[in-house]
Amino acid sequence: MRESVIINEVGLRDGLQNQPVQVSTADKARLAQSLVDAGVRHFEPVSFAHPNAVPQMADAAQLALQLPGTAATDSLFYTAMVPNLKGYLRAKACGFKRVALLLSTTDSFNQRNLNMSRDNALQSCRDIIAQARQDGIATRAYVAGALACPYDGHIAPTQTITLAEQLFLAGADEVGIADTIGGGHPQQLQQVLEPLIRQHGSDPLIVHLHDTRGLALAMAWAACDLGIRRFDAAIAGLGGCPFAPGATGNVATEDLVYLLERSGLSTGISLEKLRHSAALANQLTQAPSGRGEMASRSEEGSPENQSKIMQWAQSQQQRGKIVNLDMIE
Ligand code: MG
Repeated sequence: MRESVIINEVGLRDGLQNQPVQVSTADKARLAQSLVDAGVRHFEPVSFAHPNAVPQMADAAQLALQLPGTAATDSLFYTAMVPNLKGYLRAKACGFKRVALLLSTTDSFNQRNLNMSRDNALQSCRDIIAQARQDGIATRAYVAGALACPYDGHIAPTQTITLAEQLFLAGADEVGIADTIGGGHPQQLQQVLEPLIRQHGSDPLIVHLHDTRGLALAMAWAACDLGIRRFDAAIAGLGGCPFAPGATGNVATEDLVYLLERSGLSTGISLEKLRHSAALANQLTQAPSGRGEMASRSEEGSPENQSKIMQWAQSQQQRGKIVNLDMIE
């Protein structure tokens, strides 16, 4: 039997929250259904951030009611991002059994992301995790900007490892290593993961990658090689971070599925059906070309695809999505 990998679809949250287009609640639910049809079982569909901070997530409570199969099956796993205790309480009131929280590596990033210093953000994570444990709600705590900070640049592996250990110590069920702006590289990711895997095993670790420099798949493979079997990904490579200038799309779900399946691992996701989800995601966000479609339609770089890639790159540039590479060196 092939070894399984869990892909946690974050397109509806990390993907859509930085899109200029506001996608309706009904369309978000439609995209979620299409992903379920393709075999996706793990989702982070909403964030309970303040609507003024992240207007694209203002419908979190409504969307929670429209997500596919919540009551009918327990084979679907929905996680809500909660930036603070207030957000946690809203997620709990909406019936979420899993929450994700964030701790950034630097004071500057925590300040912009959560309006708190790093110490206060860590304390907030501890409070949420303690409350969630009492409530029987599972927690996934991310170290954000784990390899590079959009404000302070390169992050030393020891800094990220120390914070990850603090989150485990606080009682987080899972800890995520998030290259939020895609400023890291495969070896750096391995330097972070190796000691954590030695200490905790690979099971409670998840990796979250952005494809800023086209390294997301190489990094996913580097993590996979160490035994990591949980990854975040976003359909059609949607993504960004409203508080992280230069953050481009998440690693595309269809690319990651392709890599893993072709490498003999099992994701439980149909690449063929995922094409429809990618097309729908592109349609809903009015993306000018199907980034996801490209990856699954052809295994070769056809001239047609090359021109689509150019079109896509130009559109990203026009939308200010190309990272200032000097800033994150
Ligand atoms: Mg992200």
